[in-house]
Amino acid sequence: RAKVLGKARYEVFNPGMYTNALVRLQLENDLRRAIERHEFQLYYQPIVSITNGRILGFEALLRWQHPERGLICPTDFIPLAEETGLIVKIGYWALHEACRQMQNWRLSDRINSLEKISVNLSVKQFSQPDLIEQIGEILHSTGLDAGSLMLEITESAILENGDEANAALSELRKMGIELSIDDFGTGYSSLGRLHNFPISVLKIDRSFVSPIDGNGKNLEIIETIITLAHKLGMDVTAEGVETKEQLAFLRNLNCECGQGYFFSRPLDNAAAVELILKNPQW
Ligand code: C2E
Ligand code: MG
Ligand code: MG
Ligand code: MG
Repeated sequence: RAKVLGKARYEVFNPGMYTNALVRLQLENDLRRAIERHEFQLYYQPIVSITNGRILGFEALLRWQHPERGLICPTDFIPLAEETGLIVKIGYWALHEACRQMQNWRLSDRINSLEKISVNLSVKQFSQPDLIEQIGEILHSTGLDAGSLMLEITESAILENGDEANAALSELRKMGIELSIDDFGTGYSSLGRLHNFPISVLKIDRSFVSPIDGNGKNLEIIETIITLAHKLGMDVTAEGVETKEQLAFLRNLNCECGQGYFFSRPLDNAAAVELILKNPQW
């Protein structure tokens, strides 16, 4: 390890950059050991049916409890995990843990109403040749039925992987797994192009949802996306719903589902159970 740090010091002159390189190296080292040290945890954020106001499922979101730095959010370590390839192992852990938890909830008779657990798949994970096999193995070992699993993939993951992506998606779909496009609108793809993939849910990025509270032309964009998605046979989930005005607007447009702080922040396992047991209706 001293050798690695010595090399970084030699190559990087700027003291500010040196600090960054050092922090990065340490973080990478820590990330490498985080699974064995049980430092990862999943938080769960409800996905709510706008039609009946009930919790339909949860999205599993990674959290890293770092021994010195405290709780680290995925935006602060997923890019590094992607670059280093560590995301493959971490993502596998997350998928397994989410399926295990969902099956646990399913088997408990107090909480058997959940329809879906959603899990994020990164670009790197998505292009692994043994992806299908690994997912099959996770479903088998946890006992979760494929129909309860929703995988969230970004536009770029699909477009960067081209024909292979389509083959992988079709395979997952054949297994009975549902697929959604995450953060829609932040990439460069057109809905027309995504229509060729076996995707059933479009998750509209929260940057299109937040302008609902204001007024003006931005509203036309989200209206258009929802209308077009419906015409193409997809359901829509709006991300980042924070106010009741936004919810009312989305309800008016027949947007199927919503997710955001208005309903609930991401919760740890115990708090998620508590929320389901309260049986909320929005
Ligand atoms: P995402 O999949 O789009 O997840 C939604 C993000 O928006 C979450 O951030 C969530 O906490 C946040 N959010 C939800 N509602 C609201 C709201 O009303 N307002 C605002 N401002 N934010 C809201 P989080 O948990 O920090 O995750 C960030 C991203 O990290 C995720 O974006 C996803 O792309 C990635 N990620 C998280 N867990 C995993 C994982 O297990 N595997 C992979 N590959 N990526 C993951
Ligand atoms: Mg997501
Ligand atoms: Mg998203
Ligand atoms: Mg997002």
